[in-house]
Amino acid sequence: MKTVTHWIAGKPFPGLPAASDASRAWGPVTDPATGEVTARVAMAGPAEVDAAVAAAKQAYAGWRGSSLAQRTAVLFRYRALLDARRDEIAALITAEQGKVHADALGEVARGLEIVELACGLGTALQGDMSAQVPGQADVASIRQPLGVVVGISPFNFPAMISMWMFPMAIACGNTFVHKPSSKAPSASVLLAELAAEAGVPEGVLNIVQGDEVAVNALLDHPDVAAVSFVGSTPVARHVYRRASAGGKRVQALGGAKNHMLVMPDADLDAAADAAVSAAYGSAGQRCMAVSVVVAVGEAGDALVSRIAERAVKVTVGPGDDPASTMGPLVTRAHRDDVAAYVAGAAAQGAEVVLDGRDFTVEGRENGFWMGVSLLDKVSTDSDAYQNEIFGPVLCVVRAESYDEAIGLINACRYGNASSIFTRDGGTARRFQWEVEAGMVGVNVPMPVPVGHHSFGGWKDSAFGDHRMYGSEAVHFYTQGKVITSSWPDSPSPR
Ligand code: NAD
Repeated sequence: MKTVTHWIAGKPFPGLPAASDASRAWGPVTDPATGEVTARVAMAGPAEVDAAVAAAKQAYAGWRGSSLAQRTAVLFRYRALLDARRDEIAALITAEQGKVHADALGEVARGLEIVELACGLGTALQGDMSAQVPGQADVASIRQPLGVVVGISPFNFPAMISMWMFPMAIACGNTFVHKPSSKAPSASVLLAELAAEAGVPEGVLNIVQGDEVAVNALLDHPDVAAVSFVGSTPVARHVYRRASAGGKRVQALGGAKNHMLVMPDADLDAAADAAVSAAYGSAGQRCMAVSVVVAVGEAGDALVSRIAERAVKVTVGPGDDPASTMGPLVTRAHRDDVAAYVAGAAAQGAEVVLDGRDFTVEGRENGFWMGVSLLDKVSTDSDAYQNEIFGPVLCVVRAESYDEAIGLINACRYGNASSIFTRDGGTARRFQWEVEAGMVGVNVPMPVPVGHHSFGGWKDSAFGDHRMYGSEAVHFYTQGKVITSSWPDSPSPR
């Protein structure tokens, strides 16, 4: 069976002899399309975390002292290697996370965007200078790295989210310890191998595999300066509280419940296309998935029938089959939780237009399958509305007016992303101003910002300051310094 190890000081690191609990040394990695365990992954305890942080700390002085040109050259080489190995990275994602290959390639492409951004960091790291401020003094503002930075990522984007974090962090001169999800750990190791091949020095990028034991050891580690986290809201809140209590800088992105508001004047065909791709793409396991459509007035019936017509054409199957447009869910337990929301919504008054619970793939009956589900007239009090389902379940809520719709969207505790479909510029403008979300779409289903803008939500979708990538990442991964200097004119003869 394949073994997935940690990566410390530029090489695979199998783990230290388990001092106290040998049963925790390895965890299973499962192929969601077959239900079979395909690998074992090392599970870090405090000793492995110490080793990774020590390697990062040791590498810091040299990396911090390297020139921007040296760091940029390494990142350019890294970009080329990632580009050449896109297919291989995508295949690892599909094998452990389950998403279809085309979707996994899209994930790699979005991650590459941030590596490209990191290649051009010279401009973003450029400081400011004011000459002759008081008398013969000049004032300069510069930004410097923080030290050892930690990134903790979720299962649903095993490559992209790590690429949101470490390329920008190391381009800024920090060293990095990454803790990927133990459900999909292999892509991170390939990313680290390629970084080493590109010339990232030993210890600059390290990986500890594992679960909350590793996370908590990282959050408490005195040599860690900052923590970037992406995952569910309860864990994001925990990470934010625990790491910031120890004085660390923290950005912790959490879960989502993204609403798409559809006005009666919208292009309903375009809105239905958008709802289907944004709700069921990646089996709904995206923090930017649309999970609620709020249909205003007479948009309702026409929209629901258009969504249903399109949703039945989603082809569910193994991610490595080019005919599949939607893969399985990540684990059996998660699949069962998602199915329970469909049952619960029906019991709480929703109309089940499409029910994906009773679905399997011939020859892969042990996979974690669910077909698409469409729930109409969902009550905002129901569990399916109140919670992040994170599966291929689209809830439709009916509203009488724009005001009612925006009211219910803003009452939601999550504020990751939200979009509106309308042909009325005035309504769209009001929405983009009034909606309480960090990313907003107008006639766009999933408003994922491009690399040079920043990514992040509001309310229970994000804790801490500074968003992922773009200029906010430079601010997160560096600290400012303002230098006032005075060099009176030299008395020596010229
Ligand atoms: P998760 O919160 O279970 O896990 C995220 C990371 O935290 C993993 O590395 C995991 O090992 C670790 N972890 C899990 N439980 C922990 C605990 N109790 N204490 C400390 N660490 C713990 O999330 P997931 O199931 O892997 O990913 C799905 C979630 O991530 C969804 O809620 C989704 O919305 C969210 N997500 C958010 C964004 C965003 O940008 N806001 C992006 C992708 C995913």
